[in-house]
Amino acid sequence: MVQITGFTTRDVRFPTSLDKTGSDAMNAAGDYSAAYCILSTDSEFQGHGMTFTIGRGNEIVCAAISLVAPLIEGKDLDELTADWGKTWRYLVSDSQLRWIGPEKGVIHLALGAVVNALWDLWAKTLGKPVWRIVADMTPEEFVRCIDFRYITDAITPEEALSMLKEIEAGKQDRIKEAEASQAVPAYTTSAGWLGYSEEKLKKLLEESVAQGYKHFKLKVGANVEDDKRRLRIAREAIGYDKGNILMVDANQVWSVPEAITWMNELAEFKPWFIEEPTSPDDILGHAAIRKALSNTPHGAIGVATGEMCQNRVVFKQLLQAGALTVLQADACRVGGVNEVLAILLLARKFNVPIVPHSGGVGLPEYTQHLSTIDYVVVSGKKSVLEYVDHLHEHFVHPSSVKDGYYVTPMEPGYSVEMKPESMDQFAYPGEEGKSWWRSQEARVILDGPRVV
Ligand SMILES: [Mg+2]
Repeated sequence: MVQITGFTTRDVRFPTSLDKTGSDAMNAAGDYSAAYCILSTDSEFQGHGMTFTIGRGNEIVCAAISLVAPLIEGKDLDELTADWGKTWRYLVSDSQLRWIGPEKGVIHLALGAVVNALWDLWAKTLGKPVWRIVADMTPEEFVRCIDFRYITDAITPEEALSMLKEIEAGKQDRIKEAEASQAVPAYTTSAGWLGYSEEKLKKLLEESVAQGYKHFKLKVGANVEDDKRRLRIAREAIGYDKGNILMVDANQVWSVPEAITWMNELAEFKPWFIEEPTSPDDILGHAAIRKALSNTPHGAIGVATGEMCQNRVVFKQLLQAGALTVLQADACRVGGVNEVLAILLLARKFNVPIVPHSGGVGLPEYTQHLSTIDYVVVSGKKSVLEYVDHLHEHFVHPSSVKDGYYVTPMEPGYSVEMKPESMDQFAYPGEEGKSWWRSQEARVILDGPRVV
C-alpha cells in the first residue's frame, strides 16, 4: 500500500522567447514553462505531473496546484485508483475552488497537473508506462475511469462499453505494434514558427523531408502576403504530389468572417486543415468556418482545434455541431488522463481523428501515451502526432521519433519527470547563482516589452 504524504510545486521556465521558438500569430514570444506537481509518498516512488504554460502566470498555476493537491494528501493510492471516475469527481467537487472554474481555466490546468501526477505515481508503482496500464484494462475498467457527467447526451457509459468491446479483438496485435514503435506516426512543426526567417524555414523543411516526415505544419495569420510566400516555399520543399501533407495554424487571431476570407486566399496551397482559426470557445463559429471551407475552388480545407478547449463539454459541442475535422485535445489543459479518455471516446463516437496538442515543453512526453491509447484501445486507427524537437534533453525519459514514428515509451510512469538539475537551472524566480533567471542574460526578457 502506498500513501501520499505530501506534495511540492515547481515553477520551471525555459527562455524560448530569445530565439522565437514557439512564435505564432498570437504568441510572439513565449517562454515554454511547466508548473509541476510532485507527489511524495511513504514508498520509494514519487509522482510527477505538470501543466504547460508559456511563461508569465505560471506561478498562478503553481498556486492553484497547492490548493488542489491537498485533496489527495494522506490518501492511499489503491483507494484513489480503485474507482477513478469517483476520484476525478471528488477532485472537481471542492465547491469553493469550483467557483473559480468550473472545470476550466487556471484551476483546471492545476487539476491536470495533479491528476497526471497521480497517474505517473500509479504507473511507477505498477512498473508500467501509462499507455500500457490503459491497454491492459478491461473495457469495464476503462469506462470506470471516466466521469460521464455533462456528456451522456452524446455518449453513455453503456455505449462506450460496447464501442470498446467492438475493437477488443485486434487489441493484442496493436499492443505488439506499439511495442515495436509503429503505433503513432509523427509530424513536425519545428520548421514552421512565424518568427523564423525564410532561409531557416526552407532549410528546416528540407531537413524534415530528409528525416522521413510526411506531415508539416506552418503558422499563419500575421500577414496574408507573407503567408503566401512562406506556404509557397513550403510547397516547393515538400511538393504537391509526393504524399506530403501541409497544415496551417492561426492560433485564434481571426474573427469568423476573417478566417473564411483569409483561408480562401491560402486555399491554392491545399492545406489539410486550418488549426485554431478563431476563439476556442466559439463552437458555432468553428462550425460556420468548416462549412464555408468545405468547398473552395481548390478543394476542402478542414478545421482543427483543441489545445485551448477547456473541457469535455466544449469538445462534445464541437463534435455535435460538426465543427471539427481533427480534434486536438491537450494532455493537461483538460483535467488529466481521465478527462482525455472521455474525449477519446467522444471523438470515436463522432468518427473524428485525434491529434493531441503537442507543441510545448513536456507535451510530446505526455501525448505519446495518449495517442498510443487511442490507437490500441479506443479508435483502432492510426492518426498522427505533432513532434517538436525542443527541450527534450531536460527529461529523464525524453520522447523521441524514429523513422517517422514515435518511439513508444516503455519506462514506468507518464514520462514528464524532469531532471532535477534542469529544474534548478530554470527555476523561476530561482536561486541566485543557480537559476538562469538570476543571470544578466535574463534581463532582456525580464525588462523587455510584454506586448510585442
Ligand atoms: Mg496550435
